[in-house]
Order: sequence, then C-alpha cells, then structure tokens
Amino acid sequence: MRICIVGGGVVGLTGAYFLAREGHDVTILESGEDVALMASFANGAQLSYSYVAPLADPAVLPQLPAWLLSSDSALRYVPRLDVRQWRWCLAFLQACRTTTSNRIALELLQLGALSRAALRELVEHESIDFDHVQNGKLVVYRDAHAFRLARKKVDLLAEGGASQTALDRNGCLECEPSLEFASATIVGGVHTSSEEAGDCLRFCRELANVLRDRYHVNILTGTRVLGWVRQGRQVVAARIAGGDVRADAFVLSAGTACVDLAEGLGLRLPIYPLTGYSLSAPAVAERAPAINVTDLHRKVVYARLGEQLRVAGMVEITGADESQRDVRLATLIRHVKEIFPLAADYDSAQTWCGHRPATPDSKPFVGATEYSNLWLNTGHGALGFTLACGTARLLTELLQGRPTSVDARAYSLDRLS
Ligand SMILES: Cc1cc2nc3c(=O)[nH]c(=O)nc-3n(C[C@H](O)[C@H](O)[C@H](O)COP(=O)(O)OP(=O)(O)OC[C@H]3O[C@@H](n4cnc5c(N)ncnc54)[C@H](O)[C@@H]3O)c2cc1C
Repeated sequence: MRICIVGGGVVGLTGAYFLAREGHDVTILESGEDVALMASFANGAQLSYSYVAPLADPAVLPQLPAWLLSSDSALRYVPRLDVRQWRWCLAFLQACRTTTSNRIALELLQLGALSRAALRELVEHESIDFDHVQNGKLVVYRDAHAFRLARKKVDLLAEGGASQTALDRNGCLECEPSLEFASATIVGGVHTSSEEAGDCLRFCRELANVLRDRYHVNILTGTRVLGWVRQGRQVVAARIAGGDVRADAFVLSAGTACVDLAEGLGLRLPIYPLTGYSLSAPAVAERAPAINVTDLHRKVVYARLGEQLRVAGMVEITGADESQRDVRLATLIRHVKEIFPLAADYDSAQTWCGHRPATPDSKPFVGATEYSNLWLNTGHGALGFTLACGTARLLTELLQGRPTSVDARAYSLDRLS
C-alpha cells in the first residue's frame, strides 16, 4: 500500500518505520528543512514507560488558582479569546476525575509496555545510537499530600504490572546523592529502576537515515501540506506547493499542526499546544545526577545524555505564544540551580522552547477517522518520545486490519466526543 505520513517528528518517523517494515511504500511529508525540528527537538529525553500519570489528575484541581495567578508557577494558564483553548480546558477538567484519571494511567501503562518492547526491537534491529540508557528514574516530592497520593498511584500501577518503590528522604539521597542540596525540602520519592532515557533528536535523525537507506522511505523535507484533494469520504491527495501527493492511505502525525490540517477536512481534533522549555548544558561528571530525576513540585525533569545534562519542564496553557520565553527560561534556570547547583556549566547552556501536542486526557489519538483512508497518530502530549514506538505498532496493526496489542478503542477520536 502507498502510505503518506504528514509530519517527520518522532511520531511520524516511528510510524513510517513499522509500516515500512511490513512492506508498505511510505512517503513522509515534512515542512521543516530537516526532520524533528519541532516538539521532538530537545525534549526532556525521558522514556517514562511506567511513570505515565496523565496531566489531568485530581491533584491539579487545588492548584488551579496558582496556575492562574502566579507567573512563577510550573504550570501556567493564561485565558485567551480562543474557543479551542476553552473547549480543551473543559475536557481537561472532566478528565481530572479520580476514576477517569486512574483508568487512563492504567491504559497508558499498557501502551508504555508496548512501546518499550517496540523501541527495544527497533534499536536491536537497526543498531541506532542515541545515548540510550536504562538508568532508572526517581520522582521526588516536596509536598506531603502529593507524596501520599503518589504512593496510592504506586499501588494502582502495581496492579497494572509496574514495579516502583516509594522511598523516604534518606532513601532518595541514597538513590541519587547529587540531590544533597535539595534534601531539606524533599519529603519522599518514587523510584522506577526500569525507566530509560535517550536523545530524541539523535534518535530521529538516525532513524531517518535508516528509513531512507534500508527501507526506501521517501522523506520530503521542506514540503508543507497545504490542503487536501478529496472525493466524498476519501482523501485522494495531499496538496503541496507545485502539485499533489497521491497515496492509498494518509496518516496525520504533524503534532500541533494536525488541528488545522484536520479542520481542512471538517474534522475537529481536541489538541492544544502545551508550551515547555529545556536547556542542555555540559554536565559536571561527579555532580550531575546519574539517574533520571523528576522534581514533581517544579515539574522539571533531568537526564544525562552523554556529556550533557538535559533539563526540561514547565507546562503553559497559553497557545503557541513564546513571548515569555526569556522570563520562563530564567525561572527554569533558577529552579534548576536550587536543586542541582553544581551539576552543569549552566552559563554554556543551550535553551529551547517547544509545544507538546496535547489531548485533554493525555492519551494520543491513534486510529481511523470518518474518511475511509485517513488515519490519526498524534496528540502524544508530554509522552511523545515514550509512546511513539507503541503507537506506531498500534497504527500498523489497525491499518493492516490485524488484532491489536492494546485496546484500540482507548485511543480513538470518538472517546472525547
Ligand atoms: C519541554 C518538553 C519536554 C518534553 N519531554 C518529554 C520527555 O521527557 N519524554 C517524552 O516522552 N516526551 C517529552 N515531550 C513530548 C514530546 O517531545 C512530544 O510529544 C513529541 O515530540 C511529539 O512528536 P510529534 O512527532 O507528534 O510532533 P513534532 O515533533 O512536532 O512533529 C510534527 C512534525 O510535523 C511537521 N509539520 C507540521 N505541519 C506540517 C504540514 N502542514 N506539512 C508537513 N509537515 C508538517 C512539523 O514540522 C514537525 O516536524 C516533551 C515536550 C516538550 C515540549
């Protein structure tokens, strides 16, 4: 089958890989000058297969006033005259119910397990080098109430097969001694030894080479999809400057741009950009954390990528607005220096701002649409690197009409309508 994937980020590339391996003739249309220059560029590097708690969680409700009022808050919400933002926020609040949030966490845990296995298979098969390590993850809590809720989540996820350990303050310091500067504020943590990390951009670039050289995937960079040619409920071609690209099936994997692309076909996708920031700085070997760390209070993640320390965080529901970029990056660096003051040469840090393509319930959309040959694989939010290989697998199974490894209904567009 000739399959055209729109978007060459981590989701589009992994989708192309699993489809091409089944013998399909795959083309990727990517508007950027290279692959992975948008959300997949300098993310937090976490492959958090077990720590899959959705952003929509009952614990966020008491924090709403801070989101609205504090410019320093890790989560920030600035209301806009934007119907998409309001709709998204309403659906987000609905997903914050305890039963919904727990169900989603278990569903994402299953998808995470599928993704871990699929990534492992890909890496073994193709020998891709992207500073991939299985060094575990420690999520530290500075608030006793949040830690109590986290312990309940550990029990819940254990039912779904996750193996995590709750630690007290001393346990956290034993696990990651470089947390010494934050020790007075830590109340406990959750350690997951099986978690992994890697450089998403390197992964994407190496995978693109494999796709071109070994699987003859046609990756057309600098090629923006402008619209569609359709016939009834079928997409005939993607319209690009100077022509049309025809295919038997089309997959939308264009991150936050999927909303407008789908709207061109009369489809409404509840995906909203959640802005975040990262910095990459030369690590000081003996002082930087050896394992992946999440400072939950600040919503900041830390990962060692070779000689670098990657730090990422903050969630802003402000649209694709980057006007506060410098202020927010300065806040991020201040938070980072509080917890790991000696871990890296922060003066030499490279900074970045990206937009997570987020659904209100933190689950991606994978599956069919009301167009017979248009498929979705998008909306991975804060877990796109983690879940990309799993959703690529699921998409491949659905497209081929095979039984699926996880319940595909959980990822359909209908679930939110
Ligand atoms: C600060 C931050 C930290 C993060 N940390 C982590 C983490 O630690 N772990 C994790 O798992 N995830 C993390 N994420 C999330 C993850 O990075 C994203 O979920 C993932 O990159 C989304 O990939 P994507 O391919 O869907 O989107 P993108 O990477 O944005 O790719 C979409 C592509 O589509 C292209 N495109 C757009 N419009 C068109 C068009 N009209 N025609 C053709 N091409 C088009 C774009 O140029 C782009 O290359 C983080 C995100 C951010 C912002």
